[in-house]
Amino acid sequence: MDVIEDPALQDPAIQDPALEVLGRVFGYDAFRGPQREVVDHVVAGGDALVLMPTGGGKSLCYQVPALLRDGVGVVISPLIALMQDQVDTLRTLGVRAGFLNSSQDRAERRAVEEAFLAEELDLLYVAPESLGGGASPTARLLERGRIALFAIDEAHCVAQWGHDFRPDYLALSMLHERWPDVPRIALTATATRATHTEISTRLQLDDALHVVAGFDRPNIQYRIAPKNEPRKQLLDLLRTEHPGDAGIVYCLSRASVEKTAEFLVGQGIAALPYHAGLDQRTRATHQSRFLREDGLVMVATIAFGMGIDKPDVRFVAHLDLPKSVEGYYQETGRAGRDGLPSTAWLAYGLADVVQQRKMIDSSEGDAAHRRVLSAQLDAMLALCETVECRRVRLLAHFGQESSPCGNCDTCLNPPESWDATVPAQMLLSTVLRLQRERGQSFGAGQSIDILLGRRTDKVAQHSHDELTVFGIGTDLTEGQWRGVVRQLLAQGLLAVQGEYGTLALNEASGPVLRREREVLMRREPDRPVRAARARGGKAAAPELPASAAGAFERLRAWRAVTAKEQGVPAYVVFHDATLRQIATEEPATLAALGTIGGVGATKLEKFGDQVLAALHG
Ligand code: ADP
Ligand code: ZN
Repeated sequence: MDVIEDPALQDPAIQDPALEVLGRVFGYDAFRGPQREVVDHVVAGGDALVLMPTGGGKSLCYQVPALLRDGVGVVISPLIALMQDQVDTLRTLGVRAGFLNSSQDRAERRAVEEAFLAEELDLLYVAPESLGGGASPTARLLERGRIALFAIDEAHCVAQWGHDFRPDYLALSMLHERWPDVPRIALTATATRATHTEISTRLQLDDALHVVAGFDRPNIQYRIAPKNEPRKQLLDLLRTEHPGDAGIVYCLSRASVEKTAEFLVGQGIAALPYHAGLDQRTRATHQSRFLREDGLVMVATIAFGMGIDKPDVRFVAHLDLPKSVEGYYQETGRAGRDGLPSTAWLAYGLADVVQQRKMIDSSEGDAAHRRVLSAQLDAMLALCETVECRRVRLLAHFGQESSPCGNCDTCLNPPESWDATVPAQMLLSTVLRLQRERGQSFGAGQSIDILLGRRTDKVAQHSHDELTVFGIGTDLTEGQWRGVVRQLLAQGLLAVQGEYGTLALNEASGPVLRREREVLMRREPDRPVRAARARGGKAAAPELPASAAGAFERLRAWRAVTAKEQGVPAYVVFHDATLRQIATEEPATLAALGTIGGVGATKLEKFGDQVLAALHG
């Protein structure tokens, strides 16, 4: 019997259209994690809800099906400012992509509309508000074309108590009613059960395929340090561990963003501010510079970052405490999308706890809302004060079990827990005496001065030196006392009240005062953890050998020029990870170059010869 020698039958890619698209268009040879399952399900016309960490590869989950199904894939994304980059990225891959949003003039819009109707697009990005509940021009346009699928990006924006809530997302439930036959895929990196359930209910995705990918980001090293001299600590991090790297520094307020950026610039670091108080143009320029140029540090409020696709953000530093673990996870998740080692560093101190508790007390909304905020803060504080592996705690928050990671500050340099029952009693009884004997309440500073026996003006003025607790706490330093207060607040054994954030006892303080319960606290190790120690850890990227390092630099230089010519961010041309692999494997031919991860057919054709020239040049 004859064996049929049809090469098409031998080539698995041809029997497997999804794999063929993955290889030809995106240059990858295998799907990652749950991508395959999602792609197959959506290609077959099913709905899906995908929870996957940042960098997990959500985009391919809808891009591949959009290329495989008839019609245009419509992507609903709140990130208007990033649509241009998303579309540029796809075009470099040879994908026909366009967007519709308020930044366009009429002619541009017309051109995209016509391309959509003629099915000359694979993907069309639109903003949620442009769907306007269904009666808008965009919604009417969509009715006239053929739609392959709806992808609802950043789907957690539909969650009303979430930190990114957008009212426009609520109207997206109409997609299902108007286009019952078009599959929908909702995607988010926000992972709590509550958010998950809310997305599912609001978008009517109960019957959808639910996929929850693991939330671990093994290449991110998590570190939480006590805030002593925040600027100095930050500078140290940038200078010794991340010189010349791109990164994000998060601050709570606009003012501290401005001051921190100024400070860094004064220290010779290329930093830019970003917050909602800057005018639209400045924000857009700074964002685009951060994406396009190498090695910029963005100092920002949390207004910055949702959907920032820049793969080579090497560190995310928090100078203030995030309000929730979800926020922390999402913000730190912007580091290291390319899978290379990255740092998530947070400095946190007593003032953070006082300030956040105060903010919650004075926040608008009903008691139930305040309870939610307060529970979120408690979870964040517990993560800060844990003596366990940070990653274990973080993943446990998202319902995922794991074992100690070896790549966080507590694993690398285990803190001790110490019995702080006696200092806790001293502090609480100082607050109690001020309250009972004097009817007064003060901030942490005054209690600490009293315990340390300091005759400051304020102590003298109130004759606090006559209190029996005066001077009984000289075994601890001021810094240690601040740590005690911070941890009492974090553990909910002490409260903050009023406009000035003064200390007050609460129900949980009683048992400590009566010696009915012990108080354990985290003792910081003497030496702070440095990334250098972790380089040998499990997430470390191998250092490039000297020969490859030279080639890598040449390739980067070529990429910088090419990106500038094309008017796109460097990573749109090729990722660092791809350039590293090229530098190490030194492909001699175009065919060999084509086998490298991230080199698809279009890029090979467009850039192949130049890359080989730069590599062997
Ligand atoms: P997310 O949107 O989930 O944050 P992206 O879709 O931006 O993640 O993907 C993150 C990175 O992983 C991108 O650089 C992408 O090219 C890469 N990636 C995604 N899927 C694969 C895959 N199957 N093989 C190799 N790289 C992949
Ligand atoms: Zn760990």
